[in-house]
Amino acid sequence: MTKALMSAAAAVLLAACTASDASEPAPAPAAPAPAPQVTETATAPATLGSLPAEPKLTVEAINDTLHVIFGPGGNIGVSSGPDGVVLVDDKFAANSDEILYRIGEITTANGASSDLLFVINTHLHGDHSGSNAEMAAAGGLVMAHDNVRARMGTSYMNKAFGREQAAQDRAKWPVVTFSERTSLHFNGVTAHALHTPSGHTDGDTIVHFVEPNVIHMGDNLFLNMFPFVDVDAGGNMQGMIDSHDVALGIADADTVIIPGHGPITDVAGLRDARDTLQAVLDRVRVRKDRGEGLQAIIDADPLEDFAELESFIDRPAIITAAWRSLGGEFPAPE
Ligand SMILES: [Zn+2]
Repeated sequence: MTKALMSAAAAVLLAACTASDASEPAPAPAAPAPAPQVTETATAPATLGSLPAEPKLTVEAINDTLHVIFGPGGNIGVSSGPDGVVLVDDKFAANSDEILYRIGEITTANGASSDLLFVINTHLHGDHSGSNAEMAAAGGLVMAHDNVRARMGTSYMNKAFGREQAAQDRAKWPVVTFSERTSLHFNGVTAHALHTPSGHTDGDTIVHFVEPNVIHMGDNLFLNMFPFVDVDAGGNMQGMIDSHDVALGIADADTVIIPGHGPITDVAGLRDARDTLQAVLDRVRVRKDRGEGLQAIIDADPLEDFAELESFIDRPAIITAAWRSLGGEFPAPE
C-alpha cells in the first residue's frame, strides 16, 4: 500500500525537501576553507565564499536591499544594509560557499556591509537549513522556532517515505529559539519572525520585513505546485492554509511574497495558492466523511483538474497528505 502511494518523484523529494544529514554527504568535520579562488572575472570583493566551477545560484532583486537567491533547495531571502546581512534560510551545505559569494556580490553592488548578522530558518528541512554550520562559522547567528532545534536534535520516523530522519549535527542547530514570535531590528528595518503552528511542519516561521513590505513564507508556500506537508514532523494541511491567512492578514496590495519554492509572487498569488489548498483538503474531506478509504479516493482522482500542479508531489501524494491531515490512518490497514 505504502509503496503504491509513492511515486518515483518521492525519491527526489527524499533528497530535497526532507533532506537531512542522512541524505546529504556528511559535512566534513571542520573542513578547511578552500583556497580562495581568484578569477580574472570576479566582481565580488574578498569574501568568505567563492564561485564554484559550476555555479548553481541566481540572484533576483526585489529592491536595492532585498534579494532572493534561487537554485537548489529553498529560496533564500537576503536583507542587506549598513549593519550587515540577514538571511532567511540557507539551502544545502554544498551551496554554502556560493551563498557567501553571492552575498559579496550583492553587498558590493549596493554598498552594504557584508557582515553576516542573523540566519532565520523557516523550518528544519535540510534544503533550508543545510548551510547553518557554515553560516554560523561566517558569523551568522542562527535562529528558529523551538521545535526546529528540538527536532534537529533527535531522529524521527518519516512514515511517508518509510525511513528514519537522522538527528542532525549539533553545529547545524539554531542557537536562538522562540516559541511564538520575535522581532529583529537592523539596517533601519524591522523583521517579525512569526511562528505559524502545525503547517508544513510544527516548527514553521514566516518572516515579515515590515518597511520593505516583503513576506518570506518558507515552505508553507510552494508556488504553482502541490506542496509537501511533513505530517511526520507535525505538519498539517489545515495549518498551511491558516499560515496563508496569517500572511494575507498582514499583507497589503503591494506586499511582495517569497515562497519556499517557486518564483516571487504577490498577494493574488498567495491567495490562489491558499484557495487551491483549501479545495484539495475539502474534496478529500467530503469523500473521507462519507466513508471512502484512502485508496478509493486516490482511484477516484478528485484532483484531476489540478494536474498542472504536480511536481515532486503528485496527486496521490497530496491526497495522502490531506487524508493524514484529516486524521486518516496511515499506512492504511491492508
Ligand atoms: Zn520543507
